[in-house]
Amino acid sequence: MSFAPHGKHLIAGAWIGTPETFLSDPVEGAARAFSVGTPELVDQACRAAEEAFWVYGAKSRAERAQFLNTIADEIEARGAEITEIGTQETGLPAARLEGERGRTTGQLRLFADHILKGDYLDRRHDAALPDRKPLPRSDLRMMQRPIGPVAVFGASNFPLAFSTAGGDTAAALAAGCPVVVKGHGAHPGTSELVAEAIHAAIAACAMPAGVFSLVQGGNRAVGHALVQHPLIRAVGFTGSLAGGRALFDLCAARPDPIPFFGELGSVNPMFLLPEAMAARGASIATGWAGSLTMGAGQFCTNPGIAVVIKGPEADAFAEATRAALSESGAQVMLTTGIAAAYATGAAQMGAQLGVQDLLTAMCDQRQAKPFLYRVAARDWLANHALSEEVFGPLGLIVVAEDAEEMLAVAQSFTGQLTATLHIDAADTDMARRLLPVLERKAGRVLANGFPTGVEVCDSMVHGGPYPASTNFGATSVGTLSIRRFLRPVCYQNIPEGLLPEDAH
Ligand code: NAP
Repeated sequence: MSFAPHGKHLIAGAWIGTPETFLSDPVEGAARAFSVGTPELVDQACRAAEEAFWVYGAKSRAERAQFLNTIADEIEARGAEITEIGTQETGLPAARLEGERGRTTGQLRLFADHILKGDYLDRRHDAALPDRKPLPRSDLRMMQRPIGPVAVFGASNFPLAFSTAGGDTAAALAAGCPVVVKGHGAHPGTSELVAEAIHAAIAACAMPAGVFSLVQGGNRAVGHALVQHPLIRAVGFTGSLAGGRALFDLCAARPDPIPFFGELGSVNPMFLLPEAMAARGASIATGWAGSLTMGAGQFCTNPGIAVVIKGPEADAFAEATRAALSESGAQVMLTTGIAAAYATGAAQMGAQLGVQDLLTAMCDQRQAKPFLYRVAARDWLANHALSEEVFGPLGLIVVAEDAEEMLAVAQSFTGQLTATLHIDAADTDMARRLLPVLERKAGRVLANGFPTGVEVCDSMVHGGPYPASTNFGATSVGTLSIRRFLRPVCYQNIPEGLLPEDAH
């Protein structure tokens, strides 16, 4: 049976409606009314989260792991309904939502295993040296402790894996932190259904009700109230640079500033070195076209820029990319706003000095078609606007005169989530010069592949220097992302019996 959302917020175990409503904007099916969030609801949710923290933060790792696994089970139990409403609301194909559901439950279970192992606590012990001269040393123990209630902003482009029970929520709950989610207006019914799954898991595991709340949006005041709430200790966010920066600034301006872990924009440059281009330029072009158009280009790791060196191989690469992209049909975007931003961004890029159209299209309402542009590196270097992300299936080829100019392009990039090298063995000398530059620019550097598709595992880094993220040394994907919601505490001379259970 199909899921019919009631449109309420989940605040500490109770479904609460508000008089004002906003309408969802599904690609298919009827629009539905959802209660608009309010600062008062945010306050209720945050107070309940703080109260829950005293209980939940003290639960054993085994109990928290069981809770995470139960959330995964409850999501799976609603799998078909989640796919149905998710596809209706976002226009993403069913196969994509099924895959994303697997990733979401997979990362919940990964975090359950991760906390059971206990390594993340990073426990250190410097035993007392009572006879040390000239001064004795106290007994010193350090370990990571949960920070308290965490705010999470659902992402438009990952209705499951970066939203209600997504990576930020999983990491925070694993750490021992209650979560208040601000649902994304692009998929409120999907958020409600996933919140139901968490609600069921709370009951099944006898967790405190305030450990999770969902406040739907429809009002910018919700996000403002959430990041400024005195009881919130950190924020997880995925979205635009402008929105993320506005919320980051609010966090920094609080009387007690808190960390804002924002995953923002990135053009994910690829550097195509001469020998690789000569050997397999055409297949790199086809791979790039596939990566650019996957999910209508609505991935933060979408490789929007290819940097090549001038010559016949670069011309053939451009032609092969154009041919491959022109075979890709129109795809539905996540929201009408995102589609409008794509059409505007594509038109603006095409109007920049020196930019040559290789493939342009008319985008109809929520439909997106690929664009391909080319520009000389000297024009690109002179115009910062050309290095900004256009969210959607748009590719820009930057043509350098020679290796030195390619290096200058690499050096001029701002922070990125990823940077890619396409290389053959004979490109090694040049790759050796590029790699130290790229590792200063990106959270993940890869060779001979495409950055779309982020493995959820121990080694993953999904972050990067600003403006790719405000993660500053952290990642928002993979087990290391738990560190965002922990803080080290040193226990000096504290008697054994008083130490937290995790100290042993
Ligand atoms: P967004 O506009 O940044 O919104 C994300 C979340 O932040 C929403 O819940 C939004 O609330 C809230 N928000 C944004 N600005 C705010 C502000 N000034 N004050 C309070 N809350 C604020 O991102 P989006 O809706 O996902 O997509 C819009 C654009 O973001 C896209 O066109 C694309 O350019 C970019 N984007 C980039 C990535 C990436 O990974 N690089 C991912 C997704 C989107 P409301 O719903 O109330 O606005």
